[in-house]
Amino acid sequence: MFRPEWLKGLPAETHMSSGIVFNIQRFSIHDGPGIRTTVFLKGCPLHCAWCHNPESISLEPEISFNAELCERCGRCTAVCQKGAHVIEGTDHYLIRELCVQCGRCIDECMPEALQLIGEEMSTEEVITEVERDLPFYETSGGGMTISGGEPLYQFDFCLTLLKEAKTRDIHTCLDTSGCAPNSHFKAMLECVDLFLFDFKGWDPVFHKKYTGANPASLLKNLELLIQSGAKVILRCPIIPGYTDSDRHFKAIAGLEKQYPSILGIDILGFHELGRGKYDRLGKQSLIQGLKSVSEDQKNIWLEKLKSMGCSKAKVG
Ligand code: SF4
Ligand code: SF4
Repeated sequence: MFRPEWLKGLPAETHMSSGIVFNIQRFSIHDGPGIRTTVFLKGCPLHCAWCHNPESISLEPEISFNAELCERCGRCTAVCQKGAHVIEGTDHYLIRELCVQCGRCIDECMPEALQLIGEEMSTEEVITEVERDLPFYETSGGGMTISGGEPLYQFDFCLTLLKEAKTRDIHTCLDTSGCAPNSHFKAMLECVDLFLFDFKGWDPVFHKKYTGANPASLLKNLELLIQSGAKVILRCPIIPGYTDSDRHFKAIAGLEKQYPSILGIDILGFHELGRGKYDRLGKQSLIQGLKSVSEDQKNIWLEKLKSMGCSKAKVG
């Protein structure tokens, strides 16, 4: 088996650990080259107003309750020792403040109206799942992508997964917001084949208000990756009313000019898929009423970027 130099001489258990995973998506074709398995890690230091993965933000496992699937059978109320489920007539309330995430009600719920989002998995369990599709990676040039949330929020687990994938000669992608210590990105250099790096803005006031982070530290991490010779594709969510200004498009084109080694720029449009997830988690979306972006609109943005000299952009 292929084993990189930096892993030789270390016992296997050195690399084993566990982390909180909220999804493993097989046959993914949008998270890097070829057919991939995308591992979604829970936890993110940002709170982007347009986030469509609200289940990824908290590191803790969460209960998702889909009222449309609930048959009001009362089995959950019977097993919940905390009184967190209240059924009154046709209404069913989940009092989240009382829930201790014991999981009893989830086991009782036949129509799966209740689900636990996020479970602890060992490195071995995740890698075993990833290895199921080795033949597809080999024929398509695919591999494993670690996404989130922000995958570096679970830095040790993320690093371990990537190292284990490399010991198996599996191509690796890291889908990152860029929001992590510089030292964490340095540690990633040897075990990530391709970074999918978000660019959400450059204006500190805008960025802080709508994502919670200072863009300077994120761009410093991008600079580190580029200067280190890492392969990078920029991913740019274009959110109407937030990141669709000419100044923002110029900034994207400026990054391509500043960093000619960037392999590509993916234009990602807002979509409404996350809206139902907010309801099911008992959370509120920070932006309301925004509709999914059409393919035509994305192509208009693409043409605009090209007119600004951005030759590597494509609709992602
Ligand atoms: S167990 Fe499931 S279907 Fe039955 S009342 Fe509870 S949530 Fe609804
Ligand atoms: S997970 Fe446990 S505490 Fe929470 S609502 Fe279900 S039974 Fe009650």
